Amino acid sequence: MLAFRMLQTIAGHGWRSRSSKPAQNIHISKPASGFSFELTDEQKEFQATARKFAVEEIIPVAAQYDKTGEYPFPLIKRAWELGLINSHIPESCGGLGLGSFEACLITEELAYGCTGVQTAIEANSLGQMPVIIAGNEQQQKKYLGRMTEEPMMCAYCVTEPGAGSDVAGIKTKAEKKGDEYVINGQKMWITNGGKANWYFLLARTNPDPKVPASKAFTGFIVEANSPGIQIGRKEMNMGQRCSDTRGIVFEDVRVPKENVLIAEGAGFKIAMGAFDKTRPPVAAGAVGLAKRALDEATKYALERKTFGKPIVEHQAVSFMLAEMAMKVELARMAYQRAAWEVDAGRRNTYYASIAKAFAGDVANQVATDAVQIFGGNGFNTEYPVEKLMRDAKIYQIYEGTAQIQRMIIAREHVAKYKA
Ligand SMILES: Cc1cc2nc3c(=O)[nH]c(=O)nc-3n(C[C@H](O)[C@H](O)[C@H](O)COP(=O)(O)OP(=O)(O)OC[C@H]3O[C@@H](n4cnc5c(N)ncnc54)[C@H](O)[C@@H]3O)c2cc1C
Repeated sequence: MLAFRMLQTIAGHGWRSRSSKPAQNIHISKPASGFSFELTDEQKEFQATARKFAVEEIIPVAAQYDKTGEYPFPLIKRAWELGLINSHIPESCGGLGLGSFEACLITEELAYGCTGVQTAIEANSLGQMPVIIAGNEQQQKKYLGRMTEEPMMCAYCVTEPGAGSDVAGIKTKAEKKGDEYVINGQKMWITNGGKANWYFLLARTNPDPKVPASKAFTGFIVEANSPGIQIGRKEMNMGQRCSDTRGIVFEDVRVPKENVLIAEGAGFKIAMGAFDKTRPPVAAGAVGLAKRALDEATKYALERKTFGKPIVEHQAVSFMLAEMAMKVELARMAYQRAAWEVDAGRRNTYYASIAKAFAGDVANQVATDAVQIFGGNGFNTEYPVEKLMRDAKIYQIYEGTAQIQRMIIAREHVAKYKA
């Protein structure tokens, strides 16, 4: 708890807005005026704390968690003690109330250590975000507050076996009966599905297919121990293997009407709105992975010799490193811009999708190039880069695929010309 207090102290003085208004108000920190690439002293301290944790505590055990697929709860607990989880929970609920920019700086560092761990942590932010942007004071205090009292996970339950990109195609339904809603349906690919204390769940409340998505769905907070919830097996994924991904069945699950976010019919916008806030940190995670791949490849290229000299002295290899460095730098700028827009209180849909799509691609390209630079060793589990290549793929799939991001960017871009 000492370190958490230290982060609280860092957060407690300086330029950050102290706004603690609940409901509709995501924390808005005051972005620095003018144009500057210099981090504040506070931001440097958040970054340094996360970096130290990643290097000293995550990296030494990451390969073992990858091998066993065990959930990294000891690391999550430690990150919670350090204040590196839930950093965006408003101060009114006991959180640090940090801005998106600071949260992203932390995320990049955690991802540098292991993106399986980072995704488990990030899924908490995704589950919490609908409550932060749309929860009333009571809902926020109850569900966000408890996460500041002890290390606890939550999850975002939207995707189903039959509908991922096409969110409006989800079939889980909620029917109002008296003061409760009764939920039936099946969710799939839910990160933290087996570890969550509560879920944000999107369900259809209006069965009429002619009703637009913007009115047909409702967002609920569901206690994970509610009768009727059956949690599926842990899925064996290509990468990020210590992250807990599961299907969940909801059979006659009763949820009190007090757990509806905003009102019946408001769910689709809440579920989609959360992504504007969570895509910048997902992009930051992808950058952390890419930076790790670049560092590993550079160190290896300085040591490995062929034809009588270190491979870094072959131009073909050094140019690969140069390309990788370019991509890491630009992807970082993309997530920082997207996060800065959130903190400035502006609609950041365009920048969030650019950051997510670009950084997701960069993570894959840079991790693949790192494997190439390692040669045969790169293909082997004794070296760190094959894990990076497997872990990278998901950044082009979850929180909106690479294709869906391009659809959003194109829509936002073209709209400016039509306006
Ligand atoms: C490890 C993991 C963790 C996840 N965590 C969560 C979570 O916590 N909560 C949650 O709700 N979901 C989660 N997901 C689900 C994830 O968000 C979806 O898998 C993703 O949105 C894609 O949906 P889908 O799998 O149904 O693919 P589909 O939507 O079936 O897409 C299949 C392919 O078609 C492409 N495609 C689809 N529509 C179009 C179009 N209109 N134009 C062009 N191309 C298109 C897609 O880009 C993709 O390449 C997770 C998934 C994984 C694998």
